[in-house]
Amino acid sequence: MNKQIYITRKIPEAGLKLLREKGIVFDMGTSKVPPSKKEIIKALKKKPYDGIISFLTDKIDKEIFDACPTAKVFANFSVGFDNFDLEEVKKRNICVSNTPGTSNIAVAEHTIALMLALTTRIIEGDKYMRSGKYKGWDPDLLIGTDLKGKIIGLIGVGAIGTEVAKILHYGFGVNIIYSDISPNLILEQITGPTRKETAEVLREADIISLHVPLLPSTRHLINKESLATMKKTAFLINTSRGPVVDEKALVEALENNVIRGAAIDVYEFEPKLTKGLSKLSNIVLTPHIASARQSARDKMAEIATKNIISAFETGKVINSVIK
Ligand code: NAD
Repeated sequence: MNKQIYITRKIPEAGLKLLREKGIVFDMGTSKVPPSKKEIIKALKKKPYDGIISFLTDKIDKEIFDACPTAKVFANFSVGFDNFDLEEVKKRNICVSNTPGTSNIAVAEHTIALMLALTTRIIEGDKYMRSGKYKGWDPDLLIGTDLKGKIIGLIGVGAIGTEVAKILHYGFGVNIIYSDISPNLILEQITGPTRKETAEVLREADIISLHVPLLPSTRHLINKESLATMKKTAFLINTSRGPVVDEKALVEALENNVIRGAAIDVYEFEPKLTKGLSKLSNIVLTPHIASARQSARDKMAEIATKNIISAFETGKVINSVIK
């Protein structure tokens, strides 16, 4: 195939192998940190690339499309695709794909790990031991919370939210309620008819976990007002996208014990943290690693490259983000 593509950062061999088999030539960025838009544009201007594999940290908009007008397919190495200016994509008739279903298990397990980190206070316990403060067994030390019997509220139950619900239902004996713009009948066969309005989920749940995409309708879904409606004892988990939560409002809520705690993998101003966030003792922070498994990365690489190949062979991507 007489085609060439640019890959903004290194992807696993599982995907590169597929490109080589089809004779697709590729250049790949080598930066260990997300490349700036300027760096991407500089690379794109070197050759008339036919396609691009991009990452969630690459802001793909007019300037990028103008820098490489020959590229008619963009395969995002990610489930989320909020890094794309979709209005511009539609205007230019560009194909854009994502990698759905590649990290459901990884993100669901990470969500459960964050939940347990809060309820069992494992991170605080680890810090306590390392600081040399431990003087012997104490019945009042780092009292945790039972997960069993709690009401877990899931906001967004697509691929990842459904996996989280299944693990919690079968493994932990919790009660699950959820909100989603569409009912999830497969999930309801397991948990019963538990779909509610988002406001009800926020009010009633002991632990709220977010699994929505970042859309205009979900940006700051968790804000000062919605935090105030949650139980004072509630925990919030966010493994979806940072801007779904108003991070300043979250810091204030945690400082003032409006809710009990939070655990987040994604940040509103990634990689920057909102002032005060890292000083809080009632939050667990992980560096956007919920999908960080080699199995997930390999699948993401395969799906991204298969979308590129499909676009070259048939004019269409398999996993179009434009429905
Ligand atoms: P999905 O598309 O399968 O599910 C999203 C669900 O959210 C759908 O059921 C949809 O109907 C629902 N939804 C949309 N708008 C809503 C709203 N306003 N209120 C309630 N529900 C709404 O996506 P998924 O594969 O489950 O992934 C969810 C998100 O997780 C992704 O978009 C991505 O941003 C994020 N993600 C994060 C990581 C990570 O490393 N932390 C990894 C993968 C995905």
